[in-house]
Amino acid sequence: MTTKTNASATEQHESSMFDAVLARLDTAAKIYGLSEDVAVVLRNPLKQVKVSLPVMMDNGKIQVFEGFRTIHSTILGPSKGGIRYAMDVCDDEVKALSAWMTFKCAVANLPYGGGKGGIKCDPRKMSIGELERLTKAYTTALADVFGPDKDIPAPDMGTSAREMAWIVDAYNKVYRGNFPGVVTGKPVGLGGSMGRETATGRGVMVATLAALKKMDIDPKKVTAAVQGFGNVGLNAALLLSVQGIRVCAIGDHTTTIWNEKGIHIQGAIRYAKENGGVLKGFTGGVEIKNTELLTANVDILVPAALQNVITEEVAANIKAKLIVEGANGPTVAEADHILQEKGIIVVPDILANSGGVTVSYFEWVQNNYGHYWTEEEVNIKHDSSMREAFEHVWNNAQQYKTSLRIGAYITALKKIELGVKAKGNY
Ligand code: GLU
Repeated sequence: MTTKTNASATEQHESSMFDAVLARLDTAAKIYGLSEDVAVVLRNPLKQVKVSLPVMMDNGKIQVFEGFRTIHSTILGPSKGGIRYAMDVCDDEVKALSAWMTFKCAVANLPYGGGKGGIKCDPRKMSIGELERLTKAYTTALADVFGPDKDIPAPDMGTSAREMAWIVDAYNKVYRGNFPGVVTGKPVGLGGSMGRETATGRGVMVATLAALKKMDIDPKKVTAAVQGFGNVGLNAALLLSVQGIRVCAIGDHTTTIWNEKGIHIQGAIRYAKENGGVLKGFTGGVEIKNTELLTANVDILVPAALQNVITEEVAANIKAKLIVEGANGPTVAEADHILQEKGIIVVPDILANSGGVTVSYFEWVQNNYGHYWTEEEVNIKHDSSMREAFEHVWNNAQQYKTSLRIGAYITALKKIELGVKAKGNY
């Protein structure tokens, strides 16, 4: 693990997520032979902003929330990355997620750098009015950071098209104009793109099929477990099942369901929609422990919920031969070698879940053009872009005799290095 960051001693706690990013970066940099001049830039995020957000709550009292935005890099273009609403949001997490966005955008061949934001809050415990006031306070506080050609947020955990519409509204009011390209993942009809909502899950499906093809495995003969039933997990499970893959386990924070014959995903989606967005009480299988899903007897594992769920202990017990990381950072750095030694193919987060930001880019292009594409056009462009990114990563992994994860970092580093060198310094 590197010691060469300028981060303060207090930020250097052992299980830091940013350290996990640096661990992978250092491994890839060594294997690829990255120039130290580029590595040192990537170890240090460009800008970190923390704001206090006083919000009038429904009970008439003011509550102050902590908001964050980190711009990790703008080497390849304006910084791009989502905004997360969760109680564990902190400097370290946002910093790590922003760095992943830099690598993800480069892997996906998008003209973007990386950024990420978040607010420490529990959106499930807040009213819609409170959430709107909080989102608009955050946007106003960061109005000089955001910008259609500067820093472009999008949805992430705990946020959706609804919050993006509030952001664009607040931003438009600050700058007295119409700037749909300041944020992506907006509702369709308000400058949003067809296909954006399902894009991350769709990308997981395309990456899964691409990996199965390399492994010479017929998708119709395999089983899968999908952890998470939010935007990513739900769409991944649905699209995998449409491809004939038998999804035997699904789960969210309320329950985990197992059905050897395959879960009826459309039925599960309908159930969740009618029951507050959660699976609790769904009877399409038997209830198992949340931890059992990750080590279930299936061919494909899709962690599409939280970070750091595949620990060394979990990795040692995983039976799947293919892991496709729908979430950001689901595998701790220390577990990488265990998965590799077991011969498990891991399609890493920065490739597997890049379908979301890819269609975010398409949304931004459509906003800039003022002309909108059909869902079919978006999906065709998305699928070919994902396949191309997968191929580059696969080839780099082969060329450098390394894992797909490190192959993905190398793919990104090659592009970023060119950018740094071409731009020069002062
Ligand atoms: N939050 C998503 C991610 O982590 C999407 C980011 C974006 O579309 O800018 O990739």
